[in-house]
Amino acid sequence: MKEQLKEIKQRGMNEIQKADSLKELEDLRVKYLGKKGEVTRILRGMGKLSKEERPIIGELANVVREEITNALSEAKERQEEIALEIQLKDEIIDITMPGVKKEVGVLHPLNQSVESLEEIFISMGFKVVEGPEIETVENNFDALNAPKNHPSRDLSDTFYITEDLVLRTQTSPVQIRVMKNAQPPIRVISPGRCFRNDTPDATHSPMFHQLEGLVIDENITLGDLKGTLDVFAKRFFGDDTKTKFRPHHFPFTEPSAEMDISCFKCGGIGCNICKGSGWIELLGAGMVHPNVLEYCGIDSEKYSGFAFGMGIDRITMAKHDIDDIRLFFENDRRFLKQFK
Ligand SMILES: [Zn+2]
Repeated sequence: MKEQLKEIKQRGMNEIQKADSLKELEDLRVKYLGKKGEVTRILRGMGKLSKEERPIIGELANVVREEITNALSEAKERQEEIALEIQLKDEIIDITMPGVKKEVGVLHPLNQSVESLEEIFISMGFKVVEGPEIETVENNFDALNAPKNHPSRDLSDTFYITEDLVLRTQTSPVQIRVMKNAQPPIRVISPGRCFRNDTPDATHSPMFHQLEGLVIDENITLGDLKGTLDVFAKRFFGDDTKTKFRPHHFPFTEPSAEMDISCFKCGGIGCNICKGSGWIELLGAGMVHPNVLEYCGIDSEKYSGFAFGMGIDRITMAKHDIDDIRLFFENDRRFLKQFK
């Protein structure tokens, strides 16, 4: 029995040494010290021993049990330490790892233009006003001095809702609304959507955006018009921008002009944006026709003024070198993302 105990101790210690998990250690505890374990079996079998042998074997068995117990608890502690280390390693947070990038949207390039246009004109003392997109034929054409037979009135050019209502073809009717309801001094801009019965292509869209400007006061001259628009062009396109006015015709202004700006890309040498001319056509303007002033109840002997209108789509295309107006309305993120 002595030999048997020695062998059990030897084998037990060896197995405990080799065990490399808490589960294995628990299995060994059951194997040696459990109710049916090897050491327990020997202690139980002591009844069969002689009186002399019993205390010797008993003592030895207890020593073996104690040694195996100690060895098991030491091994268990070691395994727990290892498990904790592994857990800590797994849970470590690497603060140098790149984060998950959240995509932030951007303001539509047309809205960016409207915001900066408003900022520029507000800084020059203009007020922003808005008008309805469904407009009367009177405000859209008659009050703006458009002859009854003017081609822009045709069904092929204008969306009619009834005989008297249209989707406005320009933002100019907002001028009429302002002049009918206020006396000079007037200094307003009006950005908004306009509609024309155009077949969409790279430069035409049935829906587009304009910004209208109107100034009415005593002693307003063509010089004020040129000065105002020159300041606008420099603020919007850059300080080096030059402006040039060419005579033109609009029914509601007299005299009328178109304003060109020097090409901001090539500086006037000629490139693809200015189509080699060095200049870019930007907007229409002129002195408000006396007929329009009188129509709105403003004394054209006392007051004079100027108006201008520009395509917001057009100047945004020019500023960002965009070659197709339809890109603005397709909601393609790859296009819109460029305008951060
Ligand atoms: Zn150019």
